[in-house]
Formats: sequence, C-alpha cells, structure tokens
Amino acid sequence: MSQTSKSDAITAAPTGLALPSYLQADKLGPWGIYLQQVDRVVPYLGSLARWADTLRRPKRALIVDVPIQMDNGSIAHFEGYRVQHNTSRGPGKGGVRFHQDVTLSEVMALSAWMSIKNAAVNVPYGGAKGGIRVDPKTLSRGELERMTRRYTSEIGIIIGPTKDIPAPDVNTNEQIMAWMMDTYSMNEGATATGVVTGKPVDLGGSLGRRDATGRGVFTVGVEAANHIGLDTRTARIAVQGFGNVGGVAARLFAESGARIVSVQDHGGTIYREAGLDVPALLAHVAVVGSVAGFVGAEVIANDAFWDVDCDILIPAALEQQITEANAPRIKAKMIIEGANGPTTPAADDILHDRNILVLPDVIANAGGVTVSYFEWVQDFSSFFWSEDEINARLVRIMKEAFAGVWQVAQENTVSLRTATFIVACKRILHARELRGLYP
Ligand code: NAD
Repeated sequence: MSQTSKSDAITAAPTGLALPSYLQADKLGPWGIYLQQVDRVVPYLGSLARWADTLRRPKRALIVDVPIQMDNGSIAHFEGYRVQHNTSRGPGKGGVRFHQDVTLSEVMALSAWMSIKNAAVNVPYGGAKGGIRVDPKTLSRGELERMTRRYTSEIGIIIGPTKDIPAPDVNTNEQIMAWMMDTYSMNEGATATGVVTGKPVDLGGSLGRRDATGRGVFTVGVEAANHIGLDTRTARIAVQGFGNVGGVAARLFAESGARIVSVQDHGGTIYREAGLDVPALLAHVAVVGSVAGFVGAEVIANDAFWDVDCDILIPAALEQQITEANAPRIKAKMIIEGANGPTTPAADDILHDRNILVLPDVIANAGGVTVSYFEWVQDFSSFFWSEDEINARLVRIMKEAFAGVWQVAQENTVSLRTATFIVACKRILHARELRGLYP
C-alpha cells in the first residue's frame, strides 16, 4: 500500500521506531475503495439505509504481537491482525493472509468484502479476515509453524467454531490450517475441527474444496454468458493466473469446448490461437511451477496479454491488474473476476462505458467460501458428503445467487457489482434490524 508523505514524515520520527502499519495513512487503498462501493449502494437500500453506518466500520479489530524464537536463537516480533467486519448473519468467516505488505486497513477491507460475499451467496456467515505482516518465504518450516501457532493462540480470544472461522488465503495452505486447528484445540482441551476450513481432507477437510472457486467461476460465467448470447462452448478465453482458481476455471471451460487462447502467470505469457492443450499445460505447471517453457504455444510479451483477441477474460492472479491503462485495450465481451479486487474503480467505469460485462469477485469467486461452509457443516455433524453431492450443491447455490443478482441489476439498471452489493447489504442490514441493538 502506498504511503503518503505525511506518514513518511511520521515514520522518520527521532525515536527511530517504524510507525505501526495501522497508523499509516491510506490514500485510496482497499478500505477507501470499499467505502466508495458502500456509498454507491446506499440510495438503493430504502429504509435500511438508516443502518448503513454498520457497514462503514468493522465490528471488532484485533492487533496482536506475535513473538517467536528464530532458528538462530534471536527473538522476532511480527504484527498480526484479525478483523470481524460484521457478524449480524452468523459467525465471522474469512481467510488468513501472510504477506509483507499486509496492513490493518487492507485486512479491514478484505473482511468487509467477505461480509458482502457471504451474504451474496446467502451462507449464514458474517465477514472476517486475518493476516500477519511477514514474507513467509524468509522463514524456515519450524519458524513458520511457531509463528502460525502463536498467532492462533493470540487471536484465540475471538475465533472459534461458532464465533469466527479462519481459512487459507494468500501464502497460507492446508498445513497452516492444520496447525491452527491443533493450536486452538490444545488451548480448548478438545479437538475442534470446525474452527478453520480449508483443512486437509484427513483432518475434517471437504472433498471438492480445491476446485470449488474455479468451479464457481465457471458456473457463473456460463450463466452470465447465456444472458448476453455468448456461447461459452465456442468462446475464446484468456486467463491471468494459472493457480488454484485460474487453472481449475480454465480446465472446466476447456472441457466444455471453449478455447483457452492465452495464459499469463508470474513466469510469462503464452498464446495459441487454436487453443492451448490445458491438461498438458496443467501438467507442465505442476512440474515447472510456471507456464514458461511450455511447448506448443507462442510466447508473447506480458503487456500484449491485454490486446489478446478473446471473448472472455478471467483475471485470477492479483489485485488491481485491470487499470485505466489497459481497460481501453481489452477485447473481451465479458470479464469474470476470479481474483479478489483485480479491477480498479477507474477501470470499472471504463469497462462499463465500453459495454463489457464484469462479473464481480464478490459473486464470481464465492465458490470457495461456499464449500468452506459445507466443510464446517460436515465437521459439526461429523458426517461427510461425496464429491458429487458437494459439487451439485455448490452449482445450485452459485446459480441461485447469480440469478438474484442479475435480476436486481436489470431492475435498477446498475452494474453486477453494485447489484451484488445491493443484495448483500440488504441481507446484512435486514438481519441487523431484526436483531436490534443491544442493550
Ligand atoms: P495461486 O497461488 O494458486 O495462483 C496464483 C497465480 O497467479 C499463479 O499462477 C501465479 O503464477 C500467478 N501470478 C502471480 N503473480 C503474477 C503476476 N505478476 N502476473 C501474472 N500472474 C501472476 O492463487 P489462487 O488461490 O489461485 O488465488 C488467485 C486469486 O484468487 C487471489 O486474488 C485470491 O485472493 C483469489 N481467490 C482465491 C480463492 C481460492 O479458493 N483459492 C477464493 C477466492 C478468491
């Protein structure tokens, strides 16, 4: 996140101590973008608008010090966060991110977007998010485990299977969820599998979780395409990011007949007009770690990715990839946001003016949290479903949610992003109103 000159000045204070990230000024960072999105929705909330300030502030934000002994005997302190944006509809739910640039402001925004996402697909959760300001690649496995366990113990006062349920996000995975589950369980004196989702299947994880986000991207993509007369079975698709989300979405679209004409990842950009061999590309990436060096495709410049002639573009890598600079060049008729926050607000306006349909992250990538919800339900009942059952329920929820959002967009002549916010904010604020204020 960029710092203002004001925060730079404060950081340079004579004590020599770095200013905590949560005091750094936020120009139009993620939290500022989220507040703008709320402002856009308020005129559509009717009488519920009187509760709108509920959306503009997190219910609870915890900053924790995470001290650990490093392998060389020194003591290191990391800054950790857990933010519960809203719990009106149920326990907090959202991932934990380990990244050197994480700030409280970013975690606040991500937690708010989880409130919106969970309400948009109508799973009975509020929104939460957590993070540690660390580059985990600099830690040994032992240091990573000690940091994860101490963080879990520190946030243990606000998380729990009925309070707030963390999950993986950037740089966290099944192993880290297993350590979190174990730490919480040791502190409680009983195994509590339902305290986190995204666990290994052998520890109460769910079948179908790994493919869930990509499957959701595919499902809402097909539904939306039908509305605009685009046949996904013959569509040409460009995908940025070929990991958990982009790789699975590309595979499902290719299996249904679409041509994946271009893929970009951190290693480079490849193109094949006749369509890439997706199973072969997945196998290549599994071995090499990137699309770079894949035979059977042409290498193009990274910037040329935005000029690729295609019908559908799927950003499934990082935040703020579609900007004012490249939005005017995009040829696709439809964009499906697999990543969180891939489109800047200025780019969003350009795409809207160019009549390019944007399926926003808060609905398009909600398949992951939907199957996390299934995992939590299965853990509570200690009864596990087949992968076919999970996929069928996921597809039904995604289709119903998308149909509702599409209808609201048509009725109010607004973008799908604003429509998703309308649906979600009404659900959150209606729950708030029904519960009333305590005391
Ligand atoms: P991942 O780590 O599996 O894959 C990330 C991909 O992005 C990789 O292919 C990587 O090479 C690529 N990438 C990294 N830097 C890049 C760059 N500079 N240019 C182009 N490509 C680059 O991650 P993922 O789980 O697939 O997540 C991708 C996005 O989807 C993130 O924004 C994440 O928050 C979001 N998301 C993920 C899930 C989930 O269930 N995994 C759910 C909701 C949202």
